[in-house]
Amino acid sequence: GPSSQEILEKRKQFLNPAIFLYYKKPINIVEGKMQYLYDETGRRYLDAFGGIVTVSCGHCHPEIVDAIVHQTKILQHTTTIYLHHAVADYAEALASKMPGNLKVVYLVNSGSEANDMALMMARLYTGSFDIVALRNAYHGLSAATMGAAGLHTWKHGVAQGFGVHHALNPNPYRGVHGSDGKLYAEDVADLISSATPGKVAGFIAETIQGAGGAVELAPGYLPAVYEHVRNAGGVCIADEVQTGFGRTGSHYWGFETQGVIPDIVTMAKGIGNGLPLAAVVTTPEIASTLTKCLHFNTFGGNPVCSAGGHAVIKVIDKERRQENCAVVGGHLLERLRQLQEKHPIIGDVRGKGLMIGVELVTDRGTKVPAKAETAEVLEKMKDLGVLAGKGGLHGNVFRIKPPMCFTKQDADYLVDVLDYSLAML
Ligand code: PMP
Repeated sequence: GPSSQEILEKRKQFLNPAIFLYYKKPINIVEGKMQYLYDETGRRYLDAFGGIVTVSCGHCHPEIVDAIVHQTKILQHTTTIYLHHAVADYAEALASKMPGNLKVVYLVNSGSEANDMALMMARLYTGSFDIVALRNAYHGLSAATMGAAGLHTWKHGVAQGFGVHHALNPNPYRGVHGSDGKLYAEDVADLISSATPGKVAGFIAETIQGAGGAVELAPGYLPAVYEHVRNAGGVCIADEVQTGFGRTGSHYWGFETQGVIPDIVTMAKGIGNGLPLAAVVTTPEIASTLTKCLHFNTFGGNPVCSAGGHAVIKVIDKERRQENCAVVGGHLLERLRQLQEKHPIIGDVRGKGLMIGVELVTDRGTKVPAKAETAEVLEKMKDLGVLAGKGGLHGNVFRIKPPMCFTKQDADYLVDVLDYSLAML
């Protein structure tokens, strides 16, 4: 294949320069096998970011590849205007994974589309317009979801979210109320009574914020907020784009870690192990409001993505991936906390299962974000063969969200590489 330099030159000429690369010295990935990626020289990297939390079962997982190839050879696309079994079979399988009355599936292609649709459903169903979202949230880059973002870095001043109100971020590490979920929930009640007519369309939140830096919501937050929102006539939307499909280890869905059942659940990324697939799952009652509108999605629920998504669900069950997230994630968190004792720059280690954040600060007291250091360590880790992510408003949080086939040995290797890279600062 072409060299990195040739690809870089072609990109420069033909690709929008806004499509950014992660590393100062970019890597050229030509092949993937489960939790490993290979560059053009055959060098192997341990992938602890999974294509931004998307490769859930592993790169080119053979059973998922087989399902995709098989379906592609028979029928790739017709749109949903004709009957096809793959979309119906897949919807049944996905619904079987949902608690309560969350049984109606609408398939789309990306997390942005899914959240966009969820916000629209909430507004159509309730007849209200106001939405409560969280500061530090990320829900996508459609006009409506950019408006719901609570990170100015993703808003660009062009889609400011008319009708969206941003509540306090219930962040145990940096938030004003520490770990007291109930106090943060009071802020939502206050927001509803002061900034809306007392009626809202809904509330949207990730259970562990992803792009915002793997921030867990303070315990007890969601149950209290859901009550306030429902009392104001609103529906509760859980953005499971990153936290779904067993990644948190203890539960299949992130919202279950706070003991709530939402009214609308959005999912993307890991749902397709890399295929463009996303879904909105809701109750029959809420789903039916959409029948009043002419609504359509050209690629949503196409046979190939449906077959691939179905295979993902089967693989997660068969290979006990949720359990693996609990075991390996627990081990990784423990080892990272030991590392925190050694390196004062590590301000916080947090997360659940294989959805982990490591926040770097220049001073543990003032918590000043160590932004430059994070970028430097990320680059160093890559040079040593480990790919992690970074995020948070200040770009000072390592995001460790590998394919869910990550092993304890992989975790140990990652920690050793992080340890060494931090020592080199
Ligand atoms: N919600 C969350 C929590 C996300 O992390 C993302 C993607 N980073 C999105 C929504 C948007 O998904 P997509 O990029 O597929 O539109």
